[in-house]
Amino acid sequence: MNVAVEMSESTSQTVEHFDVLIVGAGISGIDAAYHLQQQCPAKSFVLLENQESFGGTWLTHKFPGIRSDSDLFTFGYKWKPWSGPPIATAEEILNYLDEVLDEQDIRRHIRYLHQVRTATWSGEDKCWTLEVTGADGGESRRFTGNFLWMCQGYYRHSEGYTPDFPGMERFQGPIVHPQTWPEDLDYKGKQVVVIGSGATAATLIPAMAGDCAHITMLQRSPTFFYARPNSNEVADMLRQLDIPEEWTHEIVRQQILKDQQEITRRSFEDSDALKDELIAGAKAYLGEDFDVDTHFTPSYRPWRQRLAIVPDGDLFKGIRAGQASVVTDQIETFTERGILLTSGRELEADIIVTATGFNLSALGDIDFTIDGEPLNFADCWAHRGILFSGIPNMAWVFGYLRTSWTMRADMVAGFVCRLLNHMAEKGADVVTPQLREADKDMPALPLVADENFNAGYLVRKMHIMPKQGDREPWIFSQDYYSEKDEIPAADLDDGTLIYR
Ligand SMILES: Cc1cc2nc3c(=O)[nH]c(=O)nc-3n(C[C@H](O)[C@H](O)[C@H](O)COP(=O)(O)OP(=O)(O)OC[C@H]3O[C@@H](n4cnc5c(N)ncnc54)[C@H](O)[C@@H]3O)c2cc1C
Repeated sequence: MNVAVEMSESTSQTVEHFDVLIVGAGISGIDAAYHLQQQCPAKSFVLLENQESFGGTWLTHKFPGIRSDSDLFTFGYKWKPWSGPPIATAEEILNYLDEVLDEQDIRRHIRYLHQVRTATWSGEDKCWTLEVTGADGGESRRFTGNFLWMCQGYYRHSEGYTPDFPGMERFQGPIVHPQTWPEDLDYKGKQVVVIGSGATAATLIPAMAGDCAHITMLQRSPTFFYARPNSNEVADMLRQLDIPEEWTHEIVRQQILKDQQEITRRSFEDSDALKDELIAGAKAYLGEDFDVDTHFTPSYRPWRQRLAIVPDGDLFKGIRAGQASVVTDQIETFTERGILLTSGRELEADIIVTATGFNLSALGDIDFTIDGEPLNFADCWAHRGILFSGIPNMAWVFGYLRTSWTMRADMVAGFVCRLLNHMAEKGADVVTPQLREADKDMPALPLVADENFNAGYLVRKMHIMPKQGDREPWIFSQDYYSEKDEIPAADLDDGTLIYR
């Protein structure tokens, strides 16, 4: 159906209609648009984006050194070769997406400064209505669409997560969260303490180390890091041979995926040896005298949290050079001058950075209503982690947590387009996932099991997420290696998808 613009009778608001409404113009939303154009060329669509530009995560985060922590051969799209080094800066990722918008003629479909506030499904009209306002809360608009494709990411973009540390108000200097980094923050010659030791801390510490008087990474417990050169031998060799970029991209993707599969397998089956290797990697940079046992020997199994790559060992080099240090302790209280630790030591600081993570947001902080009933997303069962029981005509992109996010976004996009074409073939306007009689006794399991992956932002908010079951198609395995075969071959008439 083509775009229709009309005036709402009740509010004299403009109402625009599209076949598909995409929320978010990050890497997943742009991927959704690409797949729609390729696989469902007759469908009209729009991308509604809250921010002033595209890129999502890579636009939001502006802290020093911001870069990917997985390689761009797999974080980039299958269909758009990556030609740089494996780990890329936010700017390089935005340039890549910028090229995509031009090459695929997607730019004209994006509406910036459009924040979706409510999503209402009407079974009678067989469509969604989205209430949308400008980011500043400005004029409200209305969009209707047959299918809603949620590409809103997994965390709240407006602000990061900062725990309520005791005595924060006492500290005299700035307390900064990396997600809302002040552009004018002057840290030259200053003492900086970074709370946290995840990928963000590991990125910003080496980027700031040379400029600060000193920078300290304060962690409650150690994290695994994977020190690797920021180059890929296979890519370098193929590039030297002038092999077409498309081939190089695909070959290197397959090589990286195989390597990661082996690491994942070992993290379950051979975790002690893998742990020893990762720790030995840190030791090689830090030297024999460094207390690796205290600061870089985690208690959890490798891969239970994302394994952050440290390109060229930059974090360790900063520590070895004495520009950065690491303290493993607990925060007793903030003080006027810094942070008092449980051990009794006080860390002096001019600036404190809270690299303490995200606020998980399941559905872009949008209020959903289905036929007059407010939706509690946590009541729903995830159907292949893409659709949800009781929610008609809606798909959601939740990518991989270990493998690059985009590997799953690509797969979800293929699935959604196949579903849309299947609906068209059947003459169906509505598809709603529903438990079969035999599924009704399923145990309700968390969408991501703690023993599988236990990043803090997930553990804190798992209760707002939908649940998974113990049988297909209600399992959300987070396993690329099984889903790569299962999702493209999924039976769309297995009795769990009710067409109308
Ligand atoms: C610092 C950092 C580094 C990361 N590095 C990696 C990495 O190396 N590899 C990896 O696999 N993953 C990484 N991730 C995870 C990363 O978020 C995803 O991989 C990926 O960028 C998510 O893309 P997305 O398009 O799904 O969501 P996002 O990038 O979160 O984009 C979602 C977009 O939707 C918009 N939006 C949300 N709600 C609404 C609404 N109600 N109305 C309108 N618009 C809305 C947002 O403004 C945003 O632009 C990283 C995350 C962070 C924060």
